[in-house]
Amino acid sequence: MTPRKEKKSTSNEDEAASKLSDSESPAPVDAPVALSRERFAALEKAGQHSSDLMIVINGEGTVIYANPVALQTFGKSLEEGIGLNALDYLHPDDLERVSTRFIDLLANPGSSVSDTVKSVTESGEIREIEIVSTNWLDNDDVQGIIINGRDVTEHNQYVAQLRAHEERFRLAFEDNMAPMICTDLDDAIIAANNAFCQMVGFTKDELLGHDSKMFTFPEDVGITEESHRRATTGDGVPARYTKRYLRKDGRIIYVEVSRSPARDARGKTLYFVISERDITEERALTARLSHQALHDPLTGLANRALFLDRLAQAHSRVVRQGGMGAVLLLDLDDFKGVNDSHGHLIGDQLLVSIARRLEQVSRSSDTLCRFGGDEFLYLADGLTSPEEAEQMAARLLETLAEPFSVAGIHIGQHASIGVVLWDASRLDYTEIVQDADVALYEAKRQGKGHHVVFTTGMHQQAVSHFAMVQDLRRALTSGEITMHYQPIVDLTVTGVVGFEALMRWQHPERGWVPPNVFIPLAEKSDLILELGAFALNGAVIAASSWKPANGEKSAPYVTVNLSAHQFGDPGLVAMIEKALDLSGLEPDRLIIEITESVTLLYISETLSVMEELNRLGIGFALDDFGTGYSSLSYLALMRPRIIKIDQSFVSPVQESVRNDTLLEAIVSLGHNLDMTMLAEGIETKAQLQRLQGLGCELGQGYLFSRAIPAIEVPAMLAKLPGSWK
Ligand code: C2E
Ligand code: CA
Ligand code: CA
Repeated sequence: MTPRKEKKSTSNEDEAASKLSDSESPAPVDAPVALSRERFAALEKAGQHSSDLMIVINGEGTVIYANPVALQTFGKSLEEGIGLNALDYLHPDDLERVSTRFIDLLANPGSSVSDTVKSVTESGEIREIEIVSTNWLDNDDVQGIIINGRDVTEHNQYVAQLRAHEERFRLAFEDNMAPMICTDLDDAIIAANNAFCQMVGFTKDELLGHDSKMFTFPEDVGITEESHRRATTGDGVPARYTKRYLRKDGRIIYVEVSRSPARDARGKTLYFVISERDITEERALTARLSHQALHDPLTGLANRALFLDRLAQAHSRVVRQGGMGAVLLLDLDDFKGVNDSHGHLIGDQLLVSIARRLEQVSRSSDTLCRFGGDEFLYLADGLTSPEEAEQMAARLLETLAEPFSVAGIHIGQHASIGVVLWDASRLDYTEIVQDADVALYEAKRQGKGHHVVFTTGMHQQAVSHFAMVQDLRRALTSGEITMHYQPIVDLTVTGVVGFEALMRWQHPERGWVPPNVFIPLAEKSDLILELGAFALNGAVIAASSWKPANGEKSAPYVTVNLSAHQFGDPGLVAMIEKALDLSGLEPDRLIIEITESVTLLYISETLSVMEELNRLGIGFALDDFGTGYSSLSYLALMRPRIIKIDQSFVSPVQESVRNDTLLEAIVSLGHNLDMTMLAEGIETKAQLQRLQGLGCELGQGYLFSRAIPAIEVPAMLAKLPGSWK
């Protein structure tokens, strides 16, 4: 290696400098380089205007020429630049490498070598310079090296930045949690990241070069093709869509795809970056949540909200396209009894079993819904005749006919249905369910277990019912409602032993309104409690003034009818006690009448109320006996003082042998249980004689008397026994 020269210039260099002093700087040094003067001049001229740097060194490594760019690049002035050893231009890091190269170069005439070297500028800045060094062999066999170069510092920095940027992108792509692919303009995959490979279950190698058909669910291939078509022909804006993938393992997943174009500086699309999101679970969750929002948690049936939505749709379909639809409101008969006697758990299970049976007979195009409590709604869509709706109602009722078995318990459960039909002429659907309720009410009134189709007449009736309830509130205080008394007769002597208190309403316009009409209405609200208290107070006050009937030892008792709802009133016993106190009536002269169905519906309530009233010395009469389903054990438990045989057995619409036998059986049953039997509705002498023959103790009926106003009671009591017309 050529040893580094002293920094000071040699005499030769000085000489060269002087020789070239006539030219513009920098001045090439003459010896020992034997560049001809002409060539040197040409070189100098070129160097002077070149934007590249140019340096000429002689065989000993001394710089004999450096153009302005070179001096500037290496941070040298003209004075210090020329005559320096070429190595003095370099950054210490490069010394060893470059000197070896130069020695090699000088040993191989005509050769050239490229390199990147560093220089330090005056301000201490390090710059990178790309140089090409060429061995220059002169005609005179004198050799040197011509160095051409260019400052590439900025360029290299740019390239490095670009690389770092690319690397960052690669990492961001590769390690991104979001599944991503890049596709070319033919939509073939040119890159896929790890998350994507995991999502579809294919390796990168399997994916590259293929298009997304490979893992797209066959039916959704069109979605991708459409998106690609739009991306390439349209304005290339980012597109987002959802489609299904078929993973390599065969599992179907839902993905949300966002496709955006990667463009060059001129805006031309180079490829697409497609970022995806597996939304399978998200969809399932949303579906679950929306299912929960629209379904009844107990039975899994549609809930009210979903039903009303479907109803709105079905209704507008009918209005648009004709045909007809129906809503069937199904209400379980006396379901409360199940909850009361078996507990809510069994009640709930029964509801589920009922839902399953109803479902079995439902048409798939229809909607079955649990409307709440023990009510179900059925929406029948696309009907062609009213008969179809009625057939459906019959099918729903029929499927409940067979008893249910819940937790080993057999439970018979029937239902009633209100049906509403509508066609295109019904422009509003909002009152359909209300109308179904009116029809249901009618079905229950007619005796449960069947269906009734709504008519506008019913609607008017419902409206008039509403008006009547309003009137009833007023009537209670205006004196239109009074108590009448029907005598209860000892059949052996036909003397009066008691009176049944019956309510009467004399309406200013409607005239006489029978209790069968207004009491059920009052029962729909708390109004029944007020009516009940009114009846009881009136009855005990009236009875407190009654004297024993002619020929009887004790004063007559009074029986008062109690509604089912009164048993749910916690103030019932206190109210009765207070009424007795106020009137001064002995408790054993008051008998409470309750019907079989009431006792069955509210078993626990009635039993506890009965117990308390028994303690007070108040007796019970079981009303309408024979119309319900009381079990014998239950009868024995209640031990009513009187059993009132329903008038349908006493004065049947059609006399029949069967009724006769039944009457006989009922009377002997009561006697076996040691109870007093009362026959209701005795209208004829024949009926009276027959009952007397059976040994029935007591009777009531038009044969003796209708219910009479309180003021007529004393006159009746004064009559001789047996002096009935
Ligand atoms: P119920 O308790 O079974 O009363 C007997 C009904 O039969 C009474 O009708 C009575 O007038 C009628 N009746 C009596 N003898 C004969 C007869 O020989 N032939 C015929 N065809 N009918 C006879 P009413 O007074 O119209 O009462 C009807 C129902 O209204 C009663 O049936 C009872 O359930 C209810 N009710 C009446 N007053 C009250 C009351 O103050 N409170 C409650 N909760 N219900 C009442
Ligand atoms: Ca009664
Ligand atoms: Ca009765």
